[in-house]
Amino acid sequence: MKLSKLASEIAESPTFALNEEARLLRERGEAVINLGIGEPKNKTPISAILASAAKLTSGEVKYTPPDGLPSMKKAVIRYTEENYDRLVAPENVNITNGAKQSLFNILYSILNPQDEVIVIAPYWVSYNEMIKMCMGIPIIVTPEDGTFTPRFEDIERAMTSSTRAIIVNSPNNPSGAIYPPELIGKIVEMCEKKGIFMICDDIYHKLTFDHHVAVPAYHFTKKDIENSHIIAVNGVAKLYGMTGFRIGWVIAPRDLSRVMSNVLAQTTSCVSPVAQAAAEGALNGLQSVVEALRLQIQNNRDVLLQEMRTFNGVHLVEPAGTFYALPDIRAFSNNSVEVSKFLLKKAMVVTVPGKEFGMEGHIRISFAGSVNDVTEGIARIKWTLDPTSPNEIYIGDKKMIRDWM
Ligand code: PMP
Repeated sequence: MKLSKLASEIAESPTFALNEEARLLRERGEAVINLGIGEPKNKTPISAILASAAKLTSGEVKYTPPDGLPSMKKAVIRYTEENYDRLVAPENVNITNGAKQSLFNILYSILNPQDEVIVIAPYWVSYNEMIKMCMGIPIIVTPEDGTFTPRFEDIERAMTSSTRAIIVNSPNNPSGAIYPPELIGKIVEMCEKKGIFMICDDIYHKLTFDHHVAVPAYHFTKKDIENSHIIAVNGVAKLYGMTGFRIGWVIAPRDLSRVMSNVLAQTTSCVSPVAQAAAEGALNGLQSVVEALRLQIQNNRDVLLQEMRTFNGVHLVEPAGTFYALPDIRAFSNNSVEVSKFLLKKAMVVTVPGKEFGMEGHIRISFAGSVNDVTEGIARIKWTLDPTSPNEIYIGDKKMIRDWM
C-alpha cells in the first residue's frame, strides 16, 4: 500500500500505546498500576457538567465560529487578564480541540519547510512529531549537567538563520522542572531581538508545589500583544482534570490568530459547543476545584518523594510542578525502553521510557492517579530493580518472589 511518506514517519504516541497495553492486561485480570498517563482521577467540576448539560438540553448544538464561541472566548480573556495580567481582544483568542490542536495549528501557521524550532529536552513527546508534520526541523537543546534546566548559552548557540520558534514548557512534562524566571526573561528578550516566536506551553502553569511558581513569559515584556512574540497555550485538561472534553486555547497576535482560525475552519470546522460550554462552565465556576486538585497532586508528589528516598541507586530531581517525575535509572540500565518493558512484565507497572522524551537512562512516572497507585507502584518498581529491597511482594493476590538477581 502506498502511503504518505511524511505521515508514515510519524511515531505512535507512546503514552496512548502504553495505556492501551495496560487496559488489555487489566481486562485479562492482571493487577496493573498505570503510572504512565498524565490524567488526574478527579470528577469533572460540577459547574462544567451543568453548563454542558444546559447546552445539550437546549437542543441547539450547531457549528460555532471556527475560533470559538464568543462567550467561551470571554471566559478565556478573563482568565488571561487574571493569570497573565494581559488584556487581550477576542481576535487574539483561538479555542481548539485540546492544547494539542493549539500547538499543531501554531506550528502549521508559522513554519515553512525546513524552518527550525528549538525544543528543550526533556520534552513532551508530541512536539517533535508535530514539527515534522509541519515540515519543520526540531533542534534539540539538552542540559548537559544532569539537571532538567537548559543553559541560556546552549539555547542561544542552537539558533540559526532558519530558527522560527522555541517551545518552552515550564512546568515541564516529563521532568516536573520549573525554569527559573531569569531564564524565561532571557528567552523572551532573545525572541524579541531576533523576531522569533516563543511558544509557551503553559498547560501545567497552576500545578506547582511548595513555594514554586511558574512566572509567565508576558511578565518580561512591555510589548503589547500585537507586537509581542509570545504565544501562550493553555487548556482545561490539566487545570480542571477535564482531559476528555478536549478544550485548549491560544493567545497570539491577531495576524497569527486569523491564520490559525482559517486552519481550524478548514480542518475541524470548530470545537464542539457542548465541550466549549463545559470549559466555559469550569472557567466561570468555583476555582477552589483547581486548588483542591493541586493539593491532591502535591500530596501524591510528597508520597512519591518519601517512597523514592528508600530506593537505592535512583537519582531523582524533585518535581516542582506537574504530575510527573523523571528518575535517573542508569544505576540499573541505560536502556529505558528495556526497563519500562521489564517493569510491566515483572511488576505490572506502566511507566514511560525516558528515551521518548529525549532523556535516555530515565523513566517517567506519573503521580496523577490515586495515592495508593503511587505507593504500591513505587514499591513494585523498587522490588523489580533494587536488590536491597525485600524480595517478596504481593501483586494483586499473588505472592511474587524476585528471582532475577
Ligand atoms: N502539552 C503538554 C506538555 C502536555 O503534557 C499535554 C497533555 N499530555 C498537552 C500539551 C495536550 O493537552 P490537551 O489534552 O489539552 O490536548
